[in-house]
Amino acid sequence: MSNYWNTRTKTLSPYVPGEQPRDRQFIKLNTNENPYPPSPKALEAIRAVISDGISAGASLRLYPDPECRELREAIAARYKVTYDQVFAGNGSDEVLAFAFGAFFSSDTALPILFPDITYSFYPVYAGLWDVPFRTIPVKEDFSIDYKDYLIPAGGVIFPNPNAPTGRVLPPDEILRIAAYQEKQKRVLIVDEAYAAFGARSVAGAIEEYPNLLTVHTLSKSASLAGLRVGFAIGNGALIEGLCRIRDSFNSYTVDRLAQAAAAAALRDTAYYDGTTQKVIAARELAASVLGKLGFTVIPSGANFLFIRSPKKSGPDLFALLRERGILVRHFNKPRIADFLRVSIGTDKEMDAFLAACIEIEDAASRRFQ
Ligand code: PMP
Repeated sequence: MSNYWNTRTKTLSPYVPGEQPRDRQFIKLNTNENPYPPSPKALEAIRAVISDGISAGASLRLYPDPECRELREAIAARYKVTYDQVFAGNGSDEVLAFAFGAFFSSDTALPILFPDITYSFYPVYAGLWDVPFRTIPVKEDFSIDYKDYLIPAGGVIFPNPNAPTGRVLPPDEILRIAAYQEKQKRVLIVDEAYAAFGARSVAGAIEEYPNLLTVHTLSKSASLAGLRVGFAIGNGALIEGLCRIRDSFNSYTVDRLAQAAAAAALRDTAYYDGTTQKVIAARELAASVLGKLGFTVIPSGANFLFIRSPKKSGPDLFALLRERGILVRHFNKPRIADFLRVSIGTDKEMDAFLAACIEIEDAASRRFQ
C-alpha cells in the first residue's frame, strides 16, 4: 500500500498468472501453453519484417498499422466474416479488458453474469471498470446450465470450453442465451480461447445475433503465447465500440512482428490441424489413464484436464508433482480446491506426468495397506 496510489489502485485485486519458473527446468503444464512450436510460416513472416527494406529492420522504425489490416483480413477469411466484423488486440486478455470497458457498465442496477468457476480474470476486469457482477454456480459436474443465464442482467460472459474445467456448451444453448440477452439489448461475450481443442465456435452466428461477441487467442492452438495476439468477432457496431476504447488507451496495441506472424499463422491451418490433433490425442490418453487410476477427470474440450486425485488433496498432489519437476495449476478456491488443472504437453511430457501420478498414487495406497 502506498500513499501515492489512488483509490482505484488501492482497491484493485489484480490477476495472478501461473508461475513462469526461472530457477529450474520444469515440465511446464501450468499455463495452457501449446507444447508444439508455432507454424514455420509465422516465424518466416517475423524474419521477413526484420530483414526488409534498405537496412535490416527498416520497417521497425515505423509504427505498425493501427488498423491491423493484413491480420484482420486473414481472420475474416478464416472465419468467413467481413473485415469490419473483426477486432485485433494484444492478447485476448486485452480484448476482454476492452470489451468489459465497452459493453458492461457500472451505471446499471443489473449485474453482469458469469459462472462461479471460470476464468479468474473476469472479476478482475469487473473490478477495474467498476462493473457489478453476479456469479452463477455451475452444476455439481461443473457443467453450465444455459437456462441460468436467461434472466435480466447487465450482460453475460463465459469461456467455451470453460476454464479451468474444460467443460463444453453446445452452440444451440449458447445461442439461446444470445437470443434472450439480445431482447434486453445486452451483450453476450463467448471467450473461445480453447475452442479449437473441442468446442464449436459460434462466431458464424454474429449476423443473426448483433449482441454476440466471440473472443479468440493465438496463445493456445496457434502456439504463439509469447507473441500476444488475440481478436474478437462481432457485428460492426461492437467492433467499433472496442476501437473506441482502444483508441482511448493506445492506438498501436499489436506490433509489426505480431501482426505479420499472426496473419501467417492464421493462414497455415494445415500445420495447426496437425498439432491440435496431437494435443487432443494426448488429452484423451491421459484422461483414460487417470480414470483407471481412480482420478475424477472432468470431460474436457480444451488443451488441459481438470482432475482430482482419489487419495491426495489438491495442494498435496501439486507439491508432490512439483518435487518431481512437474508444474501444474492449483486454484485455492471453494469447490475446486482439491482439483488440479493440467495443461496437455508433448507425449513425452505426458508420459512423465502420468508416471509421476502412478508413483504418487501407488505410494499413497501402500501406506494404507
Ligand atoms: N481466456 C481464457 C479463458 C484463458 O484461459 C486465457 C489464458 N490465460 C485467456 C483468455 C487469455 O489469453 P491471451 O491473453 O494469451 O490471449
